Amino acid sequence: MESQEWFEFPSDRRDTETLVRAWKPGDGMTCSHRTSRAKVSCGAPVALVKRVTTSIGYRSPRIPEVEVRRTVVCSHHVANVIKGAGYAITGITTDAEKEAREAVLAAHWEEYQKEFATRVKAKRDGYLEKLPESLRVAFEEIESTKNEEQ
Ligand SMILES: [Zn+2]
Repeated sequence: MESQEWFEFPSDRRDTETLVRAWKPGDGMTCSHRTSRAKVSCGAPVALVKRVTTSIGYRSPRIPEVEVRRTVVCSHHVANVIKGAGYAITGITTDAEKEAREAVLAAHWEEYQKEFATRVKAKRDGYLEKLPESLRVAFEEIESTKNEEQ
């Protein structure tokens, strides 16, 4: 099924219209958002995205300037476009990563807390060891006095 029709989606910017249509031969073979650092690799291109930005004219304020940017995107990146992800809104990778981290942490909460406490202590002790001994001893004495008061 081939479609020439453009569909509009929410944009991250008020001055920008985001339009999407199905990919067709001639649009390009690689996702425009492909980067070597991406956490999710791009698949085959599925859509053409057209971003139309209208701004107040530089030459004449009454004549708006229109800038059209076309990008070829894979299904992962078209999902971000549909979400309206842009400068202010995070993409689906960031959201998924946060949710995955929280789900795993919740399932292994005690293990995480223990590991966290161990690492905090190791780092703190590592830096305190760099202090001159007299100062370190003074800190320890103050700390033990305060702990007895509580
Ligand atoms: Zn992509």
